[in-house]
Amino acid sequence: MLETTRIKKIKILVLNSGSSSLKFQLFDIKNFHLLASGLVEQIGEKHSFAHMKYATGIHQKENIRQPACQDYSVADHQQAIEIMFDMLKESSCLTRMEELAGIGHRVVHGGEDFHDPVLINDQVIATIERLIPLAPLHNPANLTGIRVTKQRSPEIPQVAVFDTSCHQSIPGHAYIYGLPYTLYEKQQVRRYGFHGTSHHYVVQQAAIYLDKKISKLKLISLHLGNGTSAAAIQYGKSIDTSMGMTPLEGLIMGTRCGDIDPAIPFYLARETGMTLQEIEDLLNKRSGLKGICGQNDMRAVVKQAAKGDAGSELAIRIFCYHIKKYIGAYMAALNGIDAIIFTGGIGENSNLIRERSCENLQNLGVDIDPVKNNASSNKIRGIHCDLAQVKVLVIPTNEELAIAMQTVKLVHP
Ligand code: ADP
Repeated sequence: MLETTRIKKIKILVLNSGSSSLKFQLFDIKNFHLLASGLVEQIGEKHSFAHMKYATGIHQKENIRQPACQDYSVADHQQAIEIMFDMLKESSCLTRMEELAGIGHRVVHGGEDFHDPVLINDQVIATIERLIPLAPLHNPANLTGIRVTKQRSPEIPQVAVFDTSCHQSIPGHAYIYGLPYTLYEKQQVRRYGFHGTSHHYVVQQAAIYLDKKISKLKLISLHLGNGTSAAAIQYGKSIDTSMGMTPLEGLIMGTRCGDIDPAIPFYLARETGMTLQEIEDLLNKRSGLKGICGQNDMRAVVKQAAKGDAGSELAIRIFCYHIKKYIGAYMAALNGIDAIIFTGGIGENSNLIRERSCENLQNLGVDIDPVKNNASSNKIRGIHCDLAQVKVLVIPTNEELAIAMQTVKLVHP
């Protein structure tokens, strides 16, 4: 009995369910040490597969689960979650469900209903369901993850952490569009913003690194991954962000167009006969870096540009120019800033993009030290010149860890 008490509630599971994938991470609750990290991919397709990395002491092992039968397929999220728990059990990472203090779920859209992470109950589930029209691709998958885990282990507390919630502090003048106000009142048309978990996490890390209270800092957070967004953070609160009602607005992205003239879709429909669906697909999946130079992966774009490809060079210039414009806009919105944060796959790894995005900003106090910027590291670091007024930080984001921490706060093990 004593032993049972001792092994209870020492782990936190984090789920990030996509429409055809399930990412999961298991953390030790004491020190947030990562115990296992896995992915079930191509759920509902012919060649689904799952893999998980886990560490035992200092040994890193890989457990690839690809049954011999080539036609093996994970039919749905229910099966994906079964496979996840099987792998966690087989590897001894999670031998008993009682070890879980809680399960944290990433939920993309919390609308205006959720300003903070919440413990999931039937009402929360109903609200996430009601918000599906605002995120038709994401919220249903997130909900499936919640429902299936809840059904399987109803006794484990579950927490929803929303991509939108950190931006609920944005004031009306930054979230209301220049449209009839009734569209906001009746159809919830407004800026919501995304990447909130990442922005919130790196901003907290910045305060620790700078050894300053978050309530004293004015920051610009640049999350540059496949999706990209900028956020203006005043004294720990988001006051503006580049993504809008959907994650299509703002900075140019891997395959998404970012800010464009809203009249372009009407022009395309008129002139080319494209349907609404085709235009939506074009703006989301065939635009951005990919639309300009044929590649959406920034590593490939940089490589092509280095070989002299003019389209790739142009794509990089556009990408960095968009970032620079948002830096300027948010410096104005914040009336000066203490630091700029680069995060996400591109922000953390590409010295070229950081350099180009900040070039010729010396008059605004931004001055990157090329030696610091070019040094490779996966640690939090400053890359500004010693005397620069604005600090420029590279901060590795960790959305799953942030969700695990938020989950622990709510489940009070
Ligand atoms: P997601 O937004 O899906 O979480 P990531 O944050 O992992 O994606 O970012 C993916 C992007 O980061 C890709 O465009 C990838 O090419 C880019 N990236 C990763 N490493 C580098 C690098 N060394 N140089 C340039 N881009 C990089």
